[in-house]
Amino acid sequence: MAVSNNHKEKLEFIEETTKNTDQVQAKVLSEILSRNAETEYLKRYNMEGATDRETFKVRIPIVAYEDLKPDIQRIAEGDKSPILAADPISEFLTSSGTSAGERKLMPTIEAELDRRQLLYSLLMPVMNLYVPDLDKGKGLYFYFIKSETKTPGGLVARPVLTSYYKSNHFKHRPFDPYNVITSPTAAILCTDSFQSMYVQMLCGLIYRAEVLRIGAVFASGLLRAIRFLQLHWRDLARDIETGTLNKEITDASVRESVKDVLIPNPDLAKFISDECSVENWAGIITRIWPHTKYLDVIVTGAMAQYIPTLEYYSGGLPMTCTMYASSECYFGLNLKPMCKPEEVTYTIMPNMCYCEFIPIEESYGKVTGSLVDLADVEVGKEYELVITTYSGLCRYRVGDVLLVTSFHNAAPQFRFIRRKNCLLSIDSDKTDESELQKGVERAAELIKSYGAGIVEYTSRTDTTAIPGHYVIYWELLVKEGGRWPEKEVFDKCCLEMEEELNSVYRQGRASDIIGPLEIRVLRSGAFEELMDYAISRGASINQYKAPRCVSFPPIIELLDSRVVSTHFSQGKPQWSPRRKDMK
Ligand code: AMP
Repeated sequence: MAVSNNHKEKLEFIEETTKNTDQVQAKVLSEILSRNAETEYLKRYNMEGATDRETFKVRIPIVAYEDLKPDIQRIAEGDKSPILAADPISEFLTSSGTSAGERKLMPTIEAELDRRQLLYSLLMPVMNLYVPDLDKGKGLYFYFIKSETKTPGGLVARPVLTSYYKSNHFKHRPFDPYNVITSPTAAILCTDSFQSMYVQMLCGLIYRAEVLRIGAVFASGLLRAIRFLQLHWRDLARDIETGTLNKEITDASVRESVKDVLIPNPDLAKFISDECSVENWAGIITRIWPHTKYLDVIVTGAMAQYIPTLEYYSGGLPMTCTMYASSECYFGLNLKPMCKPEEVTYTIMPNMCYCEFIPIEESYGKVTGSLVDLADVEVGKEYELVITTYSGLCRYRVGDVLLVTSFHNAAPQFRFIRRKNCLLSIDSDKTDESELQKGVERAAELIKSYGAGIVEYTSRTDTTAIPGHYVIYWELLVKEGGRWPEKEVFDKCCLEMEEELNSVYRQGRASDIIGPLEIRVLRSGAFEELMDYAISRGASINQYKAPRCVSFPPIIELLDSRVVSTHFSQGKPQWSPRRKDMK
């Protein structure tokens, strides 16, 4: 009864808030501006305590991370004066978007945890409208934390989900029959990713009959779990058969967390061995967890590349993308979570932050026109999202491009189109064109002494195997008197490129979330053929530029059919939690 009342209240909250989008947005902005009136930032732009939209829009500039970097650096170094926010900065959230190769540091305040929690609390009431009886079983979710560092000023810097899982909101969450998960908190909080995954999978197997939904944050995470099962099912089955935990699990609290659930169960062990030992893993998810109603994973944006593989392993289970969020702020949720991946739209909740939108065609040069408010965006148009948050970001460009598809009450619903400047992504890594260019330039140094250079290059991700990896296509020119580099040199080029890529990429490589980078050397003339192909499909000869990333299957086929040699990175690029930009 209490639960259904709570769900009812949450649904009413969504209705009320979205009906009054513009009023809520005005209130959010005025709250932010009045709370932060005495901050250095708002004073710098002469807000003089004004809390209205008009003054705000005239006086406050639209900024990107680089503009805020000096202020953020001061906070990181320990300046506790109210620079961006009046509330003390509680920690930094490290975005997967990077600046100068390092994760962006997003200052946050304590109260934001409550706002994030509020958005989480809306998800189940919505899901419950579409999928009944989710309170009758458990969710198998693969959640992980990442390493954290301290800034010179002593503030913790870590990804937003790590911050959330370590918070009391998560650790001491009250019992909710709709949110019972199979993973012990100790396993989620274990920094050793092998031990964490092992025990989460073990518990998922033990509770297999009760599992009603399976998820991870991103599609790539769930596929990693399947891959893990492929590699470790024998050990897992042995543990279940004997009721003893693998010795490789050394973390005492993790061991303790399975003490009562891991009891000898030879039948279950045999079942797992029978299912996992067959060659064909099609539909493995529903074979092992037969009551699964849906997969809870984000498959929008860059994650769409994983849809076919997830369909294969799950025998076509629905995939639900429930929310749209970032380190800067959590934005909104999908009000029709059971829709097809290509139909997913996110309703930005007007209470989370103040949102403005740059029409996409104006977003490339200097933004001069006035920005559009949340309630005023138009269906069918694409925009870049700009936010003003309680944590002190003012008119900050998130870098996401969104298409308005419809309205829920007075709140627009958006399809996530893409992240600006993101060329390659396997997991949370986001490699842009200039990072790729720098990587290619650095690797090209290794073939210089051979009289060889790279005439043209392009790239793509290959996610046919898990983990996915970056593929870089090179066409070479060897000058007269020069010679073709040996295989080992190209192998080295792969690692050299990786060394130049950003820290999120290198961290992904360190933890095997991303596979070794591959260089495919093309025969001479391949890029000219690519150009001919593009022109035959209507590209202008004068304006033709080789694409820096390809995804169109016929183009990939064309390139792959011209490959003369393939090379993989033989080592791992350097990565440590220590940031290069912090002493
Ligand atoms: P981070 O700053 O590392 O937390 O990453 C946030 C970014 O991830 C967003 O700005 C989006 O580009 C992307 N993202 C978050 N949620 C979604 C979603 N539901 N669909 C597609 N992309 C998303």
